[in-house]
Amino acid sequence: MATDISIDVRVRFAPSPTGFPHVGNIRTALFNWLFARHHGGVFILRIEDTDTARRVEGAVESITDGLRWLGLDWDEGPIFQSDRLHLYQDGIQTLIREGKAYYCFCSAERLQAVREEQMHNHLPPRYDGHCRNLEETEVQRRLAAGEPAVVRFMMPQTGDTTVADLIRGDVTFNNAVLNDYVLMKSDGYPTYHLANVIDDHDMRISHVLRADEWISSTPLHVMLYSAFGWSPPVFAHLPMILGPDKAKLSKRHGATTIGEYRDQGYLPEAMFNFLALLGWSLDDKTDLLTRDQLVQNFSLERVGKTAAVFNKPKLDWMNGVYIRGLSPEEFAARALPYIERDLPASVSRPLDIEYVARIGTLVQERAKSLAELGELCGFFFQEELSYPADMLLPKGLEAARAKEILAAVLVLCSSSQEWTVENLETLVRPLCDSMEVSTKQLFGLLRVATTGRSAAPPLFETMEVLGRDRTLSRLAHAIRLLDA
Ligand code: GLU
Repeated sequence: MATDISIDVRVRFAPSPTGFPHVGNIRTALFNWLFARHHGGVFILRIEDTDTARRVEGAVESITDGLRWLGLDWDEGPIFQSDRLHLYQDGIQTLIREGKAYYCFCSAERLQAVREEQMHNHLPPRYDGHCRNLEETEVQRRLAAGEPAVVRFMMPQTGDTTVADLIRGDVTFNNAVLNDYVLMKSDGYPTYHLANVIDDHDMRISHVLRADEWISSTPLHVMLYSAFGWSPPVFAHLPMILGPDKAKLSKRHGATTIGEYRDQGYLPEAMFNFLALLGWSLDDKTDLLTRDQLVQNFSLERVGKTAAVFNKPKLDWMNGVYIRGLSPEEFAARALPYIERDLPASVSRPLDIEYVARIGTLVQERAKSLAELGELCGFFFQEELSYPADMLLPKGLEAARAKEILAAVLVLCSSSQEWTVENLETLVRPLCDSMEVSTKQLFGLLRVATTGRSAAPPLFETMEVLGRDRTLSRLAHAIRLLDA
């Protein structure tokens, strides 16, 4: 099916603030945004907050933060459905007047009993139509008496409803199995279905791009459009996202909210690229696409029908690629807040960006995430290192020898005129011969003495960045440690 884009593209991301946005929600936002930007259309942020019982404190902020972090800017909104209740009330009155919706006074207990009976008889659970044909006078009397009532859609009981989906093709539903869905709750708040359809119409939404799980609600939506006498938008239900075990992506597959990925040190551009490929592809081989390339190439024709698998190792790989692609200045600027967050409290802040930049040149190539830098680079910032003395004794090196070597290095380095990689290396390397120690042992010893770690960035570069005072005092500290 071809995408009908002869109309102005207006799309929306319409999350419910019932939790923090997970990557699936954000993938929906991203596809809408890419589609809007590709067609020079409008991207709207609409907060579907009419389910007051399930509202979660802070959810809206985490949605807007997540979108901003990825650079998904919206042209209109955020529009809150809770500010527009009058629209839904008007809509429901129209439907009631025209006999397309009706008041239902059934109590929760009655509905429960009906459900149990249906289950007992192996029938699908659905409303039994008890209030469908109440006399108007009875309805008015019960409403006037203040009896709680919901409003239900008068679902046709025969025939089919076909949803024309751009991705899935035509999907046909038998009306007889559909429910008389609740459109308005007894507290006067609309359900998702009513508010969603009224808003999509009111906001002149041209294309509804949303998660696959909503397809079963779509026949009702199609009928609502027709009940109002409106033409529906184009529907495109996006493929599900699965974990590597082919189960629906969930918490147990690792971090799933977008904020967690940010906290774990993923770059937004890596996440952007990665999410764009969850259900869309340029071809069968291209993985790395910039934001501009994605905007330029995005099309619904290339959204797949089959579920996408969330491949975390691929995300990690991509993150490394994007980290290596940053300019050194950019890397330092991005790394700084993470390092500041992750260093022990004893390190004084704010950190010096120049110093961070110098460290950055040593670690950028190897970093897979910004959140590992605090751990990886902590020794650059700590005043005192703490490590056990025997770390200074690589295999085959005795404490006395290690001390001699450290003392020799200390003397040599103290004499260095300029504290540069070249000078340090020229001074220290010959010790291998003169003191008959292997490079591996010598470097291993010095690495631990200067960093407190057995794995660290290249030795002389590290010493240069640490600077003369820090390096020398660490060497002296190591000697004392071996004395003890
Ligand atoms: N509020 C729904 C959600 O949370 C919106 C679904 C739709 O886009 O229609 O996903």
